[in-house]
Amino acid sequence: MAERMDAPPTKLMRLAQLGHVDEALRAESIWLCVGCQTCSTRCPKSVDCAAVMDALRQLAFERGEASPAQRRTVIFQKAFLDNIRRNGRLNEIELIALFKGEAFLRDRNIPALFQDATLAPQLQKRRKFHLIGEKARDRGVVARIFERVLKGGGQ
Ligand code: SF4
Repeated sequence: MAERMDAPPTKLMRLAQLGHVDEALRAESIWLCVGCQTCSTRCPKSVDCAAVMDALRQLAFERGEASPAQRRTVIFQKAFLDNIRRNGRLNEIELIALFKGEAFLRDRNIPALFQDATLAPQLQKRRKFHLIGEKARDRGVVARIFERVLKGGGQ
């Protein structure tokens, strides 16, 4: 992944640290980051680089500086987290509805709305897609995890 990045995470951390956020937001790297946490885990200074990358994506989104495809990345991430917070586990139908609905409201892209729809039967056959979502038994645990992370105690 690193060889495809126009700016390595170390450079982006330094830009953010020095307040050169606009320059950091222009880097394609923030959209290539898959949030694998490797950099955060290995950082000798305990910088949560993955969280900074995430924050940069959110900022680009909020400032309207993300392309339509990049916006969909952020919308998907938000829909995924909202889904987990609500159900304690993934509800695929709800995720698709939230993600596709929100993305469509923003870009009115009809082909994107139905893109991937033909994959549903194959996924269902492989038990990777469930029409009826389940909720985790103890959703309180998940709620507490989210609460703790939002308060900044995620470590
Ligand atoms: S989390 Fe860090 S190591 Fe993983 S892809 Fe993003 S920048 Fe690279």
